[in-house]
Amino acid sequence: MAIRIDGKAIAAKVKEQVAEEVRGLKAQGIAPGLAVVIVGEDPASRIYVNNKKKACEAVGIYSEEYALPAGTTQEELLSLIDRLNKKPEISGILVQSPLPKGLDEAAVVEKIDPQKDVDAFHAYNVGKIMQGSYTFLPCTPAGVIELIKSTGVDICGKQCVVIGRSDIVGKPMAMLLLHENGTVTICHSRTQNLSDICRGADILVSAVGKAHFVTGDMVKPGAVVIDVGMNRDENGKLCGDVEFSEAEPKAGYITPVPGGVGPMTIAMLMKNTVAAARLQAAK
Ligand code: NAP
Repeated sequence: MAIRIDGKAIAAKVKEQVAEEVRGLKAQGIAPGLAVVIVGEDPASRIYVNNKKKACEAVGIYSEEYALPAGTTQEELLSLIDRLNKKPEISGILVQSPLPKGLDEAAVVEKIDPQKDVDAFHAYNVGKIMQGSYTFLPCTPAGVIELIKSTGVDICGKQCVVIGRSDIVGKPMAMLLLHENGTVTICHSRTQNLSDICRGADILVSAVGKAHFVTGDMVKPGAVVIDVGMNRDENGKLCGDVEFSEAEPKAGYITPVPGGVGPMTIAMLMKNTVAAARLQAAK
């Protein structure tokens, strides 16, 4: 039976360390601040934004919320980003995705000052991650690395399989595993023999966004299984990609949903905001 990786507890530890750092920075006259921008009324986005604000309060990070109506134009959004780029109280800017149809998300991300890009989605930061010399790591993949490390399993030399190749999870996830010297395979919707590939994984990370996607027969005995997926099942209950009841008896370690990757994503955002404040103070 797998050991459950307690993402909540590990995230709480990260946040304690961040709170300590924030106290130290404030003693030096540096106050980290995060601006969270939300456009429209997406209920899931509202929950994420509230959780991010609560996390800021808990660790002592100043936060500002900009809740804009769904009819906001591209120009209005870009001009807000411009103002936040110049605002000294703001060390990090996060634009909650998805944006309503008609807004160009990529252009918005590119407008963010790379030094305030705490999501690490800007092309500059993506490039730095490729090179392995980065200031910010994207929150979800960075959180996953922490979760894997918490098991004591060394990523070096292991067969790592990432299902999903999105810019925000799959691709950077694969890159971070590569930086840890994992042997990495990236799978996607055109991958052939997906189950066979997964069965060879010592470390399996699923970021697909489909409930019941990873079944027990796809899990190698003893593997570390990380479930990034956040889905609703037939009964509207929050669940991951992994069929937990089938995978848990086979895996060595496994993350639950909820309580696995989700809390780590927010903890890493707090870490990035502190890193951004340090960076700007050093300018
Ligand atoms: P995405 O942009 O929709 O990407 C999904 C990926 O899954 C794509 O690369 C897609 O392949 C692949 N895929 C879809 N069907 C597949 C299939 N049948 N076989 C193999 N691969 C398949 O999603 P995302 O933004 O990366 O997010 C993925 C999941 O993680 C979602 O549930 C999201 O809610 C969750 N998430 C959680 C957190 C957290 O903090 N816990 C953070 C971010 C995202 P193609 O590229 O070929 O289409």
